[in-house]
Formats: sequence, C-alpha cells, structure tokens
Amino acid sequence: MRAVIAKQPGGPEQLAYTEMDDPVLNTGEILIEVHATTVNRTDILNREGKTGYAQNPIIGIEVAGLVAETNGNKEFSIGDRVMGLVNGGAYAEKVAMPANRAMRIPESLSFEEAAAIPEVFLTAFQTLYWLGNLKKHETVLVHAGGSGVGTAAIQLAKKLSQAQVLTTAGTEEKLQVCKQLGADVLINYKSTSFDEKVLEATNEKGAHLILDFIGASYWSKNYRSVSTDGRWVLIGVLGGSTVESVKLMDLMVKRIQLTGTLLTPRSDQYKADLTKDFMKRTSALFENKSLLPIIDQIFPIEEVAKAHQHMESNKNIGKIILKVK
Ligand code: NAP
Repeated sequence: MRAVIAKQPGGPEQLAYTEMDDPVLNTGEILIEVHATTVNRTDILNREGKTGYAQNPIIGIEVAGLVAETNGNKEFSIGDRVMGLVNGGAYAEKVAMPANRAMRIPESLSFEEAAAIPEVFLTAFQTLYWLGNLKKHETVLVHAGGSGVGTAAIQLAKKLSQAQVLTTAGTEEKLQVCKQLGADVLINYKSTSFDEKVLEATNEKGAHLILDFIGASYWSKNYRSVSTDGRWVLIGVLGGSTVESVKLMDLMVKRIQLTGTLLTPRSDQYKADLTKDFMKRTSALFENKSLLPIIDQIFPIEEVAKAHQHMESNKNIGKIILKVK
C-alpha cells in the first residue's frame, strides 16, 4: 500500500507518499480501507520527531473509510462505513483500528466530513465534559475559536449545555464563523485585550471554564479571565510552554482547578470509553446536522506537504482533509 512517512525529522518537504507494508492486525483490531484522513498539530510534531510517543512511522491519527477485514469482530461487517482514532498510520491506503472505538458514520455525512470529526470533537468533548465538568448555562471561554478543536468546542458547548460561549481568534473572518456556530461573545485577541472583554461580558465574574490551547503567552490574561472556583484545562501550548513567574498562591486564592491533558498517548481503553460516551450524546445531532464537521479545505493525499504548510501558517478555519480515495 502507499502511505506517508517523514524521510527524516523536519519540515513538510520531508513528507513522502511511498510504498509501505500493509498493517498487521492485532487482536481486537479491524482493517480500514482509508478514504479520508486529516491534518492535526500532533502530525506536525510527529513529522518533526518531537512527540516522543509516536510508535508508527506512518503519520496520522484519524480516518474515515470502509471496513475491509473484520478479523473476527462481530460488531462490524465488511463494507461498513466507519470513522475514528487510530494509533498512528492514518495517512495510508489501509490502517488498523481498535474495533471498540470505531464509530459508524452518520448516513448524512461524506467520508471527508466524517474524517473531520474524531480528533477535534473527541478532544473538545473530553475537555468540556470529562475534565472541565461544564454544566448547563455556564460560561466557557474557548480560545482559538477558528481552530479545529475550537469550532467543535463552540458547537458542543452550545448544543449540549446551552452555555454562554466567549471565543478568541486572530481574524474577523474566523470570528464570523464562530458566530455562525453559536458563539455569543467574539474577541479579536490581536486588537483587544481578551481578559477585559471576558470580565465585561461576565459582570466581572470571569468564565467558569477556559479551554486553553495557547499556554504561556496567555497565562496572566487567562488567570484574570477565570472565575473563582473556575476550571482551566490546558490542551495546547501554541503560545509557549514555559511561564517565567507563577504565583501558586494566586491559584489558591481563586480556588482554580488547572488541568492538562493529551489525548493521543491515552490508553486504548480510555479512548474506547470516551468514544462511546461521545457517540451516545452526539450521534443523533450529527445525523440531523445540529452538529457540523467544519472543513477548511480538502487536499489530495499526494499534496500532504502543502496541507501541512497550510496549517502551520494558521490559515485554516476548521479541519484540513486529506483525500486518499
Ligand atoms: P488548528 O486548527 O491548527 O488552529 C490553531 C489556531 O490557533 C491557529 O489557526 C491560530 O488561529 C491560533 N494560534 C496559533 N498560534 C497562536 C498563538 N501563539 N496565540 C494565539 N493563537 C494562536 O488547531 P487544532 O488542530 O484545532 O488544535 C488546536 C490546539 O489544540 C493545538 O495546540 C493542538 O496541539 C491542541 N490539541 C490538543 C489535544 C490534546 O489532547 N491535548 C488534541 C487535539 C489538539 P488565529 O488566527 O486565531 O491566531
């Protein structure tokens, strides 16, 4: 089969779509004929040799496609349309996927739309509910609102919790998409100090929950933006990972619950449980199009280097898809 690897750790020019061995199925895994996969930030770190936890030389963590071999699994038949997270190896014509976290693709969705769901929606769902404990009508601050995870989080917070959603982004175009997805307060972080806007919109109380993709460069403003007893979940460090001076007393005074997480290195069982809970609460909403996978652009897999460059230039709104078949 053909698959994408990084010839050496480095830039997008290191990516090659080349002949590789077919995947070998372990117990509990089914074989997927891949129709679409996507670009995630973790793929870029993997390409650069920076993740430390990637075990598969083939890049990519999520797919949509057809079941090609059931490997004795009774829940799926050959030809079923499925989507889900894989343990690496997604940028390929075939990939192995643990059957207990394969999700049936809602009938109304194409393979490209389905591929846009697993990583960003599961991450947003995990962050909002399993870690952030978002309750009905609470206030949530979603940074990078135009990002893949941001566009998913805005929709989930509105549709599942009727939350007040405040969001930041670096362009008016991104903010307008956030508005269409249901965001209530739009903040251009390049022209405004976002913490002032958050306090203004919350009667100086701050947000109950922050989804933080940015890290160090937002530390002080996030601290000002979170409410007393608020939750603050760190899921990315696009603005750096070292905060020079932290006063731990500040966290104590506001009784803040600060949590960090990475989904990719979590166990197979965790991902299966998360997937099940996510599907239970959202599949009908995808089917009736209350929840939408947001696609920025579709590239043929042969143009994977261009697709990575596109994400690295922060241009995408929602997901970048790689069409395999
Ligand atoms: P994405 O679609 O590539 O969007 C990221 C956006 O963040 C950029 O387009 C840019 O939009 C904004 N941004 C970049 N650098 C910034 C900075 N220094 N300050 C402020 N904004 C900045 O990203 P994604 O795939 O949704 O992922 C979003 C984040 O979540 C990434 O950090 C990713 O690593 C993380 N993530 C974490 C997990 C986990 O399990 N922890 C899982 C999935 C993703 P603007 O134009 O608005 O600046």
